[in-house]
Amino acid sequence: MIWRTRSPPPDVVSRYLLILAGGSLPERPLLAGCLARSSVHDASTTMHDAGGCGRRTGDISSSRVRREPVQAGEEDQMRSMQFDEYGAPLKAFSYEDPTPQGKEVVVRIEACGVCHSDIHLHEGYFDMGGGNKADVTRARELPFTLGHEIVGEVVATGPGVTGAKPGDKRIVYPWIGCGDCPKCNSGEDQSCARPRNLGVHVDGGYSTHVKIPDEKFLFAYDGIPTELAGTYACSGITAYGALMKAKEGAERGGFIGLIGAGGVGMAGLMLAKAAIGAKTVVFDIDDAKLEAATRAGADYVFNSGAKETRKEVMKLTGGGLSGAVDFVGSDKSALFGINALGQNGVLVIIGLFGGAMTVPVPLFPLKGITVRGSYVGSLQEMSDMMALVRAGKVPPMPVKTRPLDAAWETLEDLRHGKIVGRVVLTP
Ligand SMILES: [Zn+2]
Ligand SMILES: [Zn+2]
Repeated sequence: MIWRTRSPPPDVVSRYLLILAGGSLPERPLLAGCLARSSVHDASTTMHDAGGCGRRTGDISSSRVRREPVQAGEEDQMRSMQFDEYGAPLKAFSYEDPTPQGKEVVVRIEACGVCHSDIHLHEGYFDMGGGNKADVTRARELPFTLGHEIVGEVVATGPGVTGAKPGDKRIVYPWIGCGDCPKCNSGEDQSCARPRNLGVHVDGGYSTHVKIPDEKFLFAYDGIPTELAGTYACSGITAYGALMKAKEGAERGGFIGLIGAGGVGMAGLMLAKAAIGAKTVVFDIDDAKLEAATRAGADYVFNSGAKETRKEVMKLTGGGLSGAVDFVGSDKSALFGINALGQNGVLVIIGLFGGAMTVPVPLFPLKGITVRGSYVGSLQEMSDMMALVRAGKVPPMPVKTRPLDAAWETLEDLRHGKIVGRVVLTP
């Protein structure tokens, strides 16, 4: 069934619950990090459209001038790898170089990561399990440029820009909102109900250039390799935002659990010590991933599928974890997390594998636990995280580069599970 709702429910939460209501556990993980909100927002946009609120996706990209597919000898033109049909191969399109107005900034892209969520955006739907699909095709105009892990050099600024100047090397924070609502005005742009996320709702970074609505979305990354820097805007900030919430229940010197050692989980591991100073306990059902986590500096690793694990964790931690982040987000992983918490522990769920669970209600008052979610991170959290990264307190994650023209091949390789770590496109 394709999920299309004609009468919008009252808020994002209920939209989200509606999506999940009919779903059972899907065959494969739905997301890593940023994918969560993409689905919520895309779904909400679909519903807005159905309700007659119109499309918002052209806000930034509408000023581009459509041209024919790239011609030889036009090296200085903006070139983007785009899809003009959902599921179709990406093709090169060229455009006039963007011109910034007002507070806008144009960045010449030097690197853009290819994220797992790009696969779903390109397919045009999210598989919600149980045969349910969330149609996200109305959230953007085609042809469309994916890519939200963008790094590059400022090449042009609008007359309203006061700080950024040509030559500045910056990471682009892609979780951009409408620009004028209580959330956006309080620095919670990532929680805006009318999102303009780069590479999700408006054209992103599989391109030579990108236009940003405000310089506040740019972050310095001096001392960090360019191809690595973009990952902090996605897996990095997603993990960091969750850790900041998990640490609310963690005492200095306590144990932080990281459930799921995939890409975002590994980013979380690297940030956890620098940001919180807690001892890290990594859980996964794959021993190879646990070995990688050990090599990356995890203090303790456990196979969460093993029978004795919970008992061993209780023994190790003296009564349970202070905080935990569930990077998987399945009923199994969330229940595992809840059961591994100690008194007043906090479990933050950011994965969206799917499923439903039953939890004994008395557990909440008796153990004082908190179970909550998290979506990427705020501008302030991005700034705080980048300070740690720039101070050299966060070990790098492995990245490989490919040319921009390999965008389609890379997306296909990722879809078929042929990529380990991050591939970053370099125009
Ligand atoms: Zn991402
Ligand atoms: Zn807003």
